[in-house]
Amino acid sequence: MVESKETESRKLLGRLRDAMAGDDPGQERLDKITTLIAGSIGTEVCSIYLFLDDETLELCATDGLNRDAVHQTRLKLGEGLVGRVARRRRVINTPDAPNQAGFRFMPETGEESFSSFLGVPIQRLGESLGVLVVQSKDARVYTADEIYALEVVAMVLAEMTELGAFVGGEGSAMLARHSQPSMLRGTVAQEGVAEGHIWLHEPRVVVTNPIADDPHRELERLSVAVEELRVGVDKMMEMAGDGEQRQVLEAYRMFANSKGWMRRMQEDIGRGLSAEAAVEKEQSLARARMGQVTDSYLRERLSDLDDLSNRMLRILTGQGQNTGAEMPANPILVASNIGPAELLEYGRSLKGIILEKGSVGSHAAIVARALAIPLIVHVDRITTEALNGDHVMLDGEQGIVHLRPDETVVSAFRDKIAMEAEAQQRYASIRDKPAMTKCGSLIELHMNAGLMADLPSLEHSGAEGVGLFRTELQFLVRSRMPTRSELSAFYGRVLDAAPGKEVVFRTLDIGSDKVLPYMKPNDEPNPALGWRAIRVALDKPGIMRMQLQALIRAANGRPLTVMFPFVAQYEEYTQARAEVDRTLAREAKLGHVLPESIKIGAMLETPSLGFAPRKFFEEVDFISIGGNDLKQFFFAADRENERVRKRYDTLNVSFLSFLEQIVERCDQSKTPVSFCGEDAGRPVEALCLAAIGLRRLSMRPASIGPIKNLLRRSNLEEVRKVIFDARHRGDMSVRPAIMQWLRENG
Ligand code: PEP
Ligand code: MG
Repeated sequence: MVESKETESRKLLGRLRDAMAGDDPGQERLDKITTLIAGSIGTEVCSIYLFLDDETLELCATDGLNRDAVHQTRLKLGEGLVGRVARRRRVINTPDAPNQAGFRFMPETGEESFSSFLGVPIQRLGESLGVLVVQSKDARVYTADEIYALEVVAMVLAEMTELGAFVGGEGSAMLARHSQPSMLRGTVAQEGVAEGHIWLHEPRVVVTNPIADDPHRELERLSVAVEELRVGVDKMMEMAGDGEQRQVLEAYRMFANSKGWMRRMQEDIGRGLSAEAAVEKEQSLARARMGQVTDSYLRERLSDLDDLSNRMLRILTGQGQNTGAEMPANPILVASNIGPAELLEYGRSLKGIILEKGSVGSHAAIVARALAIPLIVHVDRITTEALNGDHVMLDGEQGIVHLRPDETVVSAFRDKIAMEAEAQQRYASIRDKPAMTKCGSLIELHMNAGLMADLPSLEHSGAEGVGLFRTELQFLVRSRMPTRSELSAFYGRVLDAAPGKEVVFRTLDIGSDKVLPYMKPNDEPNPALGWRAIRVALDKPGIMRMQLQALIRAANGRPLTVMFPFVAQYEEYTQARAEVDRTLAREAKLGHVLPESIKIGAMLETPSLGFAPRKFFEEVDFISIGGNDLKQFFFAADRENERVRKRYDTLNVSFLSFLEQIVERCDQSKTPVSFCGEDAGRPVEALCLAAIGLRRLSMRPASIGPIKNLLRRSNLEEVRKVIFDARHRGDMSVRPAIMQWLRENG
């Protein structure tokens, strides 16, 4: 019985393939397909609805309904039974459609005479392309088998739509997929605007043979591929540590050995799909489910299945990273996610980056920031919507991606880019001038860096030095620990690139989100509050010693400035400083030239250090406020968590008062203090930081121009008064008052 149904299904797919083989225009192909399906399933009606835009479906072909309605009947997503199938991405099967909730009467199609209705979504990789419908006059309930057969056909239709098989029809819904403008939103991880062409980090796998004649051969291909997959996962398991990666791999292994997954794919093949189409069909279902489940654990497992399916597709099609395609001019990289090493390989050739997942604080974001490449993360659907070479405009201020933009968007966007360029010119003209405010305060503007590639910005931006050199990246992008001589050579080159200017090297800040790939990860319940930064350095001083030696040798007699991250109490500073002294003594003994002078600072990133004994403030050579971490701990709001990240304003009066107290304590002990969190690079924030007494700010290079421009035109006495009044009134944040003052002062 099953055998005969499978044969029936294969026959239908075989006929579909024949219908596609000729040179018929898209419309004729679709018409033929509806006739074939209606005939095979034994229904009076078969119709195909395709998406016209994100919200509208259009009847594109029918056998059984009034043909005049083709390209005339349109439905909104969620409207009528067809719209419901599309929105929920789920089958609707009813013997009595007119009395089914949501039914919409469409007189032009003449469909009221049909009682039963079966609609299945046409989708590929979770992307909804349309709906396939069969209807009959008799009140029949379609069997599970018939539903299954129609789903297989819908899968083939999706592949064919993707391949452009129906282009050339009369309706606009039949334009090639991916040819229409689309606007997608995400979260800004690095500001800036860019125009260019899409470059897919992982090219889409294209299945050119969804239908196969020989199920035995396809079953064999499937089992060979699954075996290869299992071996691959086992190998990865051997190399993985105990942490989260292992959990993911275990989930992979579970799926790779899942009998249910295999059985469903085998059934699909039995019905005429090729092995890759069967994998994709399962993947599509998983993606559709992913959009519906709210349980985060389940979502993650579905996402694991998605990754695994991608691996399978690459094995089966042989399509991988290297398709031979050439990177377009002004490439804008699109990826689901990307690691820092891969991103560094692309380097500055990229004009922008769009990630479907990613996060604002990820390593990729750190690299993008270091390279000053605009980055938008959490852009839903981008990897399925964008094709290699597509024209794209990336608005890294609003977090908007304009894919295949139309003329009006293009011209408005180009105006924006031109304005930006104009502003840059204005900033260039004050590059060598000091950031002297109207009231005569001199603010030093330094830049943050982390790569050799950052150093040229020292000159372009007019920065007075490097106020924060994050040393993590050289550790993070390798598969092994860098050697002392590699580090020393690297730091030496950094110093060479900054002649006469100070570079503040921050010692390794690992732990929390920054996990070294070659170190055994620690399973900590709260990594941000865990064993990180100076805590690791003091407990396991080997790496810190090696890094300090590398820095001393790199300085080679030049002045050296070092600071320790995440110092939470005075003793941690004294212990670290003692380590520096011991290292200096050892280096001298070994005959190395010592730095001409050495300054050892501490980063103030936890509220506790703001309350350290006066002795600490007297002893430390300088303090740098790490506002990103300090703010997260002040408000107890995870800087990585999108839900709470922006909940508390940096200009909140309590936080500003706390910062002011730190500045006062530093003034009392004459301790130089600077601020190096991201907020230093935001004009309004920078203005307030200067107003409460900070005289040194370190920021990303691109911010130096705009901030200097604003500071030079501002009177800090007035800003201070605005802050004072806001505080006196009991405002939650001083931002509204400052914004108003800025407006009033042009
Ligand atoms: C900070 O916390 O403000 C800081 C500058 O360090 P990072 O962002 O590298 O944690
Ligand atoms: Mg920090």
